[in-house]
Amino acid sequence: MALSDQKTTIDYAFDEQHIWHPYTSMTQSLPVYGVVSAQGCELTLDSGKILIDGTSSWWSCVHGYSHPTILAAMQQQLSQLSHVMFGGITHQPAIEASKRLVQMTSDNLTKVFLADSGSIAVEVALKMALQYWQGRDQPQKQRIMTVKSGYHGDTFAAMSVCDPDGGMHTMFGNNVTKQVFIPAPTSKFNEPLNQTDTLALEAAFIQYHQDIAAVIIEPIMQGAGGMWFYSPGYLVKLRQLCDQYHVLLILDEIATGFGRTGTLFAYEHANIEADILCVGKALTGGYISLAATLCSDEVANGISDSPAGVFMHGPTFMGNPLACAAATASLDLLLKGEWQQQVENIEFQLKQELASAIDLPQVNDVRVLGAVGVIEMVNTVNTAELQQAFVDLGVWVRPFNKYIYLMPPYTISAKQLSKLTAAMLTVAKGID
Ligand code: PLP
Repeated sequence: MALSDQKTTIDYAFDEQHIWHPYTSMTQSLPVYGVVSAQGCELTLDSGKILIDGTSSWWSCVHGYSHPTILAAMQQQLSQLSHVMFGGITHQPAIEASKRLVQMTSDNLTKVFLADSGSIAVEVALKMALQYWQGRDQPQKQRIMTVKSGYHGDTFAAMSVCDPDGGMHTMFGNNVTKQVFIPAPTSKFNEPLNQTDTLALEAAFIQYHQDIAAVIIEPIMQGAGGMWFYSPGYLVKLRQLCDQYHVLLILDEIATGFGRTGTLFAYEHANIEADILCVGKALTGGYISLAATLCSDEVANGISDSPAGVFMHGPTFMGNPLACAAATASLDLLLKGEWQQQVENIEFQLKQELASAIDLPQVNDVRVLGAVGVIEMVNTVNTAELQQAFVDLGVWVRPFNKYIYLMPPYTISAKQLSKLTAAMLTVAKGID
């Protein structure tokens, strides 16, 4: 019997008693669904049921699952070198992945730090910014400015620049970096920058710039902090103020990077450059954990001029060759360029098929950008209940807060996407 034909049994009892899932309690368990395999845009459950995936496994599997090119690259790498320490050693997989990152991002970003996960890429970015100003004889610049309702990850410094008012990390968040919160943008994606945002940004820079090392922001799309898209004009203004007041700009493209919003990176909507850029999630096509923090020569030189002289970070699995091989294969697929038409098609279809949801009294807003489609409900939804409703309809969608949203693999077919949007409308209609 071929390995793939063997029936996988999921030990749900052990799972429930011993294994922590994201954002859950070990005493009040929520339903989990046992996945035994995934192919293309479909997940197969242990029951044999097939679900069309509307999540790309949290923004990451942009080429779909089990893509032969990425699998072949990983298999080849696994047989050659699956891991080796990165201290004092280098290898071609890290070089190839980094070459592509330098090529694909803006010209000023020349240096690559290969981190293990998105949150760590954010930690690295924040540390880079603080150390940079130590090297530029402005050691008082140690505060981080950020917008309210942002999301940057689950580690301590990352949490401290997440939404401070009722966000998911409020209970831990406010103690690590000396942050300054500015109001979240209010100018919508298709609007110019409004006066409220302009004044709020200018006031914050005037008041705090002397102490601010960097601003960190998710470009164009605020993800976990509201699933909404703001004006490119906001980023243009932010870049201008950062230049004027000598503040570094950190863009967190961990969710938006690699095509999700219709441009390869979301900052391209605003035609600006970051001083420090964080990428993750889709970097390996979602096949294995890897993230990266890129920075400019100026940032790297400032760090070298700091009292430490070296950048103080070096995780055990830094630059893991297997992950870098997956990243290289995934980036090569993106460099072929087919993603652009795929994302355009998804955007067109999402706009058409989700539009009618706005007529439902329980729906507050419907918005689409690139391969992201969001129905914002009036009230907070019950994630577990809705998840079950989606599974019953043969799709995998994971709502949270007030948001029922899709970010499917770019390779999804029109028919599969229609099944997802139809399920979203059915589920939204069923909510009181
Ligand atoms: N930054 C953003 C914008 C994210 O959306 C996420 C994860 O959702 C992170 C950082 C953290 O990435 P990770 O979960 O890989 O640590």
